[in-house]
Formats: sequence, structure tokens, C-alpha cells
Amino acid sequence: MRIESDLKLGFKDVMIRPKRSTLNSRAQVTLERNFTFLHSNYQWKGVPIMAANMDTVGTFEMVKALAKHKIFTAIHKHYTLDEWKHFMNSVPDEMIDYFAVSTGTGTADSKKLTNIFSQHPQIKFICIDVANGYSEHFVNFVKKTRKQYPDKVIMAGNVVTGEMVEELLLAGADIIKVGIGPGSVCTTRVKTGVGYPQLSAIIECADAAHGLGGQIVSDGGCKIPGDIAKAFGGGADFVMLGGMLAGHTESGGKTIEIDGTKYKQFYGMSSETAMKKHAGSVANYRASEGKTVEIPYRGTVENTVQDFLGGLRSTCTYVGASKLKELTKRTTFIKVQEQHNEVFSK
Ligand code: 5GP
Repeated sequence: MRIESDLKLGFKDVMIRPKRSTLNSRAQVTLERNFTFLHSNYQWKGVPIMAANMDTVGTFEMVKALAKHKIFTAIHKHYTLDEWKHFMNSVPDEMIDYFAVSTGTGTADSKKLTNIFSQHPQIKFICIDVANGYSEHFVNFVKKTRKQYPDKVIMAGNVVTGEMVEELLLAGADIIKVGIGPGSVCTTRVKTGVGYPQLSAIIECADAAHGLGGQIVSDGGCKIPGDIAKAFGGGADFVMLGGMLAGHTESGGKTIEIDGTKYKQFYGMSSETAMKKHAGSVANYRASEGKTVEIPYRGTVENTVQDFLGGLRSTCTYVGASKLKELTKRTTFIKVQEQHNEVFSK
């Protein structure tokens, strides 16, 4: 047994210190970034925020709403080939840069991925997603996928430590998904005791990825717009959102009415709800590591997007960053005691 005694930080443990700035208004801030990805060499331009590959968030409807803002959606892996065909016939060409096909690492997942790409070779992004990215099987799957698709952008995870970020980049991934346990409907930390405070995971993993010319996406734990700014401030290249994009017209999940108020169901992808829906039952060798919640219906996602983009522009103005790219260089975090921030936590 060993104890690491360095202090590790979550979003709620810090605030961003304001700095002298020459910017007069948040309208002067650009949130678009340009990336050339490590292995695929693909050039991408957009606002580096992503909808999570959950069936309540990463929907075809979400792609169409978010791509208008050049925001990305990792489409969940449960759509059928027919549903994909219908979507691809309706999506404008200019949206092709703003969505990924997601897959797990099972044989059926791999077969479905091959089928999707044989019918829609123009799709550019693959998101290989497993709860625990530390297994040899996962690394081998990333290697195999890179060999099969040399020019696709591969995003892979989830991990939380630098050495595994390096291993996955060397195995052929372009972008590493970072986050174990911070998700709003995730119960991994409760069920297993495993996890890593998300801001420290971002800082350490971004450093490892940037050293090799790769990128990271911070996945999970953003509850309020300020958390997105803190994730970028810590060095995340992309930020993935689940709960913040749930509950909208474009989100998946049942709509429920309780005492005249509308709610939308939101659940973890390994919750009992998701497992029953997609696999018929909860496999008895594993505990469900996700929960189900009802979110008051929030209308279309457009207002929420305007709200968090406005917040992010404002953060950039407070620290004098005219581009999102400069935010991390201009960020000084102040450690705060939890009670200073508790007004924000759920
Ligand atoms: P949020 O933005 O809601 O805090 O986090 C979204 C992220 O939570 C997802 O992108 C995914 O990484 C993670 N997640 C989604 N469903 C589950 C689940 O059932 N269990 C766990 N452990 N994590 C989940």
C-alpha cells in the first residue's frame, strides 16, 4: 500500500483570479480553436465543447442544434444502421466536422463500427469509450482501430493519469478522454472507491498529452458554466458535457409529467435504466455504476448554449484572453475552502 499525499483538486476547490486586461467587451473574445490531430493529421476548427456520448445527450437532434455553433457531439453507440442512414441523408455536409461515431470494444461494437464506416466513409471522428481505459484489451483495440482507420480522428478513454494518456497516444489515439468518477450520474466513486479529482486529472493529463503533441477532452463533472472555464483554464483542449446538456428538447430520455411539471429522464450509461434498455437486464457480474434522475424540462438547448458560451467569453475577458487558446496561459487558480463555493454545488 502507498499513499500519495499531494493535494488533488476538483472544480469546486478553486476560483480563477482576475487579471489586468485590454479587452473592453466579451464580444472581442473568440472561442474557436484550430487543431491538427496527432495521427490523423486532420485539421479541425470549432468551439471545443462536446456533448457526451450518452443516449440522453449525444443524439442526432443534438448534433443539428450544436453544430450551428461549431460545437461537437459524440453520438451515442445505440443507434441502428437504419437510423444512421436516415441521419446521414438529412445532415448538411458542413456539419461533418462536428460529430463522432461512438463505440465500445466488444466484437458487436467493432462490427457495427465497420458497417457504419462502410456505408458512411465521410464521417471523420471515432470515440472509443470504456469506463476503465486501463486495460490491455482497450489499448489493443485502439491500436487495431488506428490500423483500420489511419485518417480518422480517434478519441479514446477514459483515463486520469499521465502515463496512460501517453500509452493511448502512442497506441494511435489523437484525443484522450479524461475523467473517472466525476460524472453527475456516475456512482463509480461510491461503488468502487476509485476516482481522481477532475481538475488535477486535467492538469496532469494535458501536460502528458501536449508533450507528445496530442489533445485531451475533460469528460464529466461540469455542473455550471464556470466549471467549463476552469477545465479550459487547467489545460483541457476540449470539454465534454453530460448533465449540462440533459433535459432539453434535443436530449434523449423519456419525458415525464409530475404534478403538471414536465421532466426529462437522465441516466448514466451503466445505470440500471440504460442496461435494461439496451441489454435487457443488469449483467450480474457487475454493479450498476450510474444513477437515474429526472431533470426539469428546459426547452431547446439554444438558451443553455448561449448561457455557457457567454460565461466562457466573460471568463476570458476577466483574465485578458482574447482567444480561448490563451485562457490556460492566463489562468491562475486560487485554492478556496469548500464552503466559499458551496452555493454552487448541487
Ligand atoms: P456530466 O457532464 O454529466 O458530469 O458527466 C458526463 C460523463 O459521465 C459522460 O461523458 C461519461 O464519461 C460519464 N458517465 C456517463 N454515464 C455513466 C455511468 O453510468 N457511470 C459512470 N461511471 N460514468 C458515466
